[in-house]
Amino acid sequence: MTIVTEHDLLKYRRTKIVATIGPVSADMPTITRLIEAGVDVFRVNMSHGEQSAHAQTIAAIRECAERLNSHTAILADLCGPKIRTGKFINGVANIVTDSDVVVTARDVEGDAVTIPSQYAALCSDVVPGDRILLNDGAVELKVLKLSGTDVKCRVVTGGPVGDHKGINLPGVAVSAPSLTDKDIEDARFALSQQVDFLALSFVRSAADIQALRKIVDEEHWSPMVIAKIEKPEALANSTEIIAASDGIMVARGDLGVELNPEQVPVAQHQLINRAVAANKPVIVATQMLESMISSARPTRAEVTDVSHAVGSGTDAVMLSGETAVGQFAVRAVEMMDRVARQTESYHWHEGGPLKPPKTPIHGEVAPFGDAIADAAALLVTDTRARAVLVISNRGMTAATISAARPAAPVIAISPDPRICRRMSLMWGVVPHLDQTAGRENPTAVARRVAKELNLASSGDYVVLVRGFHSDPKLNTPTLTLLVV
Ligand code: PEP
Repeated sequence: MTIVTEHDLLKYRRTKIVATIGPVSADMPTITRLIEAGVDVFRVNMSHGEQSAHAQTIAAIRECAERLNSHTAILADLCGPKIRTGKFINGVANIVTDSDVVVTARDVEGDAVTIPSQYAALCSDVVPGDRILLNDGAVELKVLKLSGTDVKCRVVTGGPVGDHKGINLPGVAVSAPSLTDKDIEDARFALSQQVDFLALSFVRSAADIQALRKIVDEEHWSPMVIAKIEKPEALANSTEIIAASDGIMVARGDLGVELNPEQVPVAQHQLINRAVAANKPVIVATQMLESMISSARPTRAEVTDVSHAVGSGTDAVMLSGETAVGQFAVRAVEMMDRVARQTESYHWHEGGPLKPPKTPIHGEVAPFGDAIADAAALLVTDTRARAVLVISNRGMTAATISAARPAAPVIAISPDPRICRRMSLMWGVVPHLDQTAGRENPTAVARRVAKELNLASSGDYVVLVRGFHSDPKLNTPTLTLLVV
């Protein structure tokens, strides 16, 4: 029985922490404390707030990160075609179980029998028998009859529904475009702010990501594009979506409404494995430490959930309300950091981190980069090397080595702060800005950085990986074992 003590904890946490910024955390002192507590990436949620306020928050994050000499990145999260209720008289209505209600696209204020919807095409998308879920699935309706812009429903499970709450239509092919006008405006704004990651909600197919890429291509900034997986269609098309995007988020909030809750853990497991197999970062999101919105300590089940995600090999775990509106934002990050470190240290001491299995393609030669990355990971294990150093021009080498989940940290050296920030999301990667990278002899750079970061004692090994080129024909990958 191994109990990890303070003494056994690894120096670098491998799993990254994404924290959603919000009213309780957008000020500079709190941003500073959150970075110090371990935030690697801040999520700016475009579903709430005005662009002018987001611009101020982004500027504040950049300033705090610079002062702390940290490569903290920013992810802008586009709301996508999220369907919401309109407004209710007094802001909320109590919907009664077994009563009949009308969901309407008419511009009215709602009450216990009339539920306004902001989505005009609702009545053409649903048919009798479909389910309509409100308020994160807490309230369930069954469609009885359609009449013009009204959908008559029977209330299967009642409860309170307030202004602008989410409406989910599980199993319904929603006709709304994947990028709304607001998303296009928000994407252009996020690009003008030079965010590091751009996430799209309610992705259904690879075409949705390609549509977003078209907008990105029109601008002079190219962030990593993250597909939020929260619809059953996205699960069905996950291989193509992962191929089309630069990373994914397992958005368990809406996924748990669109699917049955018991299907979410298995979906999470499969998505982590598929993303890692494609060398793309994956974020597990939502309700990870939910009770810490109002309580100083999480439930044991929440801690176990975070630990399980870490043990499954996710690149990152995400906090939402905990850091956006919670009373214990900094403590939530500290708790996530501690849970991740405990779990990773346990796996490390037990013989190396868990590597999600790549699906072997029988008879096929492994992709070139993957083979080198696997060899580097094996070399680390066999020689107990203290670090893998890579010189990364675009972050691709770091992503490939990270996906092999080596036991030692991946020190990714780049002369470009933008590349350092995007590598902040990758499992086990410690971005390191060095202006000489790519110009000086790589062995000399690696030796100097190993010394600067105090990675190894005299006589220890470190592994240097270099020679990857953006043009595969020019690849001359080299693994070098250096004795410090
Ligand atoms: C989710 O649904 O889990 C999610 C991350 O999306 P949002 O927080 O934007 O609803």
